[in-house]
Amino acid sequence: MFVRAFTRWNLIAIAVGALLAGVPSIAFDFWLGGMVDRQGRVEVESAAHRAIALVDFRLGQAAAALDRLAAEDPKASSLGACGPDAVAAMRRADFLAPPIKEITFVSPDGVTLCSDRSIPADDRKIVSSETLPLAGGLTLDLIQFADAGSMVRLRRMAGAGPNQMAALVPTSLLLPQATIQDSPFSAYARVSTGSGFFVGDVGRPPAVGEDQLSATASSDRFGLQATIRVPRAMLPAERIGFRWIGLVVTAAILLIVGIFAWLMPRRRLPHDPIAEMERALKDGEFVPYYQPVVDIRSGQLRGAEVLVRWRKSDGTLVLPGTFIPLAESSGLIRAMTRDLMRRVCVEAGPAIGRRPALKISFNFAGQLFSDENIVNEVRNIFARSPIKLSQVVLELTERDPVENFTETRRTIAALQGLGVCIAIDDVGTGHSGLSCMLKLGADIIKIDKMFVDAIGTDRNSTTIVETLVDLAHNLRMDVVAEGVENFEQVTHLRELGVRSAQGYVFAPPLPGSSFLKLIEAIDPLAVAADEAAERPAA
Ligand code: C2E
Ligand code: CA
Ligand code: CA
Repeated sequence: MFVRAFTRWNLIAIAVGALLAGVPSIAFDFWLGGMVDRQGRVEVESAAHRAIALVDFRLGQAAAALDRLAAEDPKASSLGACGPDAVAAMRRADFLAPPIKEITFVSPDGVTLCSDRSIPADDRKIVSSETLPLAGGLTLDLIQFADAGSMVRLRRMAGAGPNQMAALVPTSLLLPQATIQDSPFSAYARVSTGSGFFVGDVGRPPAVGEDQLSATASSDRFGLQATIRVPRAMLPAERIGFRWIGLVVTAAILLIVGIFAWLMPRRRLPHDPIAEMERALKDGEFVPYYQPVVDIRSGQLRGAEVLVRWRKSDGTLVLPGTFIPLAESSGLIRAMTRDLMRRVCVEAGPAIGRRPALKISFNFAGQLFSDENIVNEVRNIFARSPIKLSQVVLELTERDPVENFTETRRTIAALQGLGVCIAIDDVGTGHSGLSCMLKLGADIIKIDKMFVDAIGTDRNSTTIVETLVDLAHNLRMDVVAEGVENFEQVTHLRELGVRSAQGYVFAPPLPGSSFLKLIEAIDPLAVAADEAAERPAA
């Protein structure tokens, strides 16, 4: 199994990722919570309205029955007497209005005079009495019976007499039943009179302190109020686990961000690129590539420029532009260049050594010339190699300003004393100024691709190349043109007096094995002659 230790970067990335993911997921959770709340509120309010609509409906039926009864005997003469006809009429009215349990005649102070049922009149106690201004002269009494039952009594004037007729509705019929209890939304419902007397309740009231939602609706006509309370945990949205959805989404986002953060650092630059380069150097991942330099008069191979490549363990090849600047700023360039020279000695040393006319160039960062020790290092490296010091060219780029002119000048002279040639690279692109560069006493100038590209199309460039070539010849310097990509450029350069060139038109930088094959193919005789010379005489 692939196990990978968490680095500090991993942890920071995960923390930042979790923070970034946390904000939207908290917002999502908040939004979800708000939605659940809004939905619950709507449910509770609508349950309260349904409960009060039931009250209105049932008491409405009772009030209508009383109206009909009063209409039967406008004077209430026979009814008021509570005779047999009256009782029959009351029973009819009672029968026609389902919620009515009993119809009675009462005195103005509420005392029951007679009833259509045989319920004892002294069995009851009036708990509260309220007149209903919006119910056409009706009065609503709450009556408690001795057997613990309770009823709501509606009474009204009966004709011209002082007595009133009344309809009694059991309070249980005024409470929501199936509508609330059978639904998944099981709430607590409480009905009370307009002045707050308890009429009845249904369901289990939420505990004190329990998180709950509540709503109250009241009847305009009968003054009763219905209050619904429901524990938040019983809300349908809560019960189907809406909040779980929020949690799952949050967890999923965190998981994705976590995985992402864990993978990200693998693709990023290593957290300490210098340490990574040091390791790569130790593991031999910096390898030389060779770009042939061709004599454009004879077509012969004049040598090659060594260009470093970072061949990573996964096979990817990294171009120097991405790591040389860091190698230079960290000072690692020195060890890297030494290592590269040693590798070239091992890999191409025999092939180059046997062909003394070939030159091998190395790019030397400016700082390498600021330290005279480099002279000994170069001498030691090539002392044990078939490559002669006279075959070695060290390129100093004009791109970067020369920092320590005197030192550089001295080192160059010492290197030249070993037989090494010095080339000024990228001539025409830097800010040091040509005269300054020339004062360094180099042996070769390398004309940058920029001028080579413009030859034949831009008059100025052509003139610059012409001038450089003249100057170089006057100073007995060699000229190499770089980045030559087509044969027209070759022709122009030849006409301008340039002798050596390198570029894709001949070959790109080649890995060692290809470069060695190329040498063998171009110059096999030299090898044969060499081998003949080495063979002991028969
Ligand atoms: P440079 O010394 O000017 O090398 C020439 C660059 O031009 C190389 O790029 C080469 O591949 C590219 N080139 C050659 N012919 C053509 C062509 O016909 N067309 C085009 N478009 N490009 C061509 P590379 O290998 O990427 O190297 C880039 C630079 O990195 C080099 O520029 C040099 O300054 C630096 N470098 C390479 N190896 C080393 C090294 O070992 N030490 C130091 N200090 N710098 C190095
Ligand atoms: Ca170069
Ligand atoms: Ca160059």
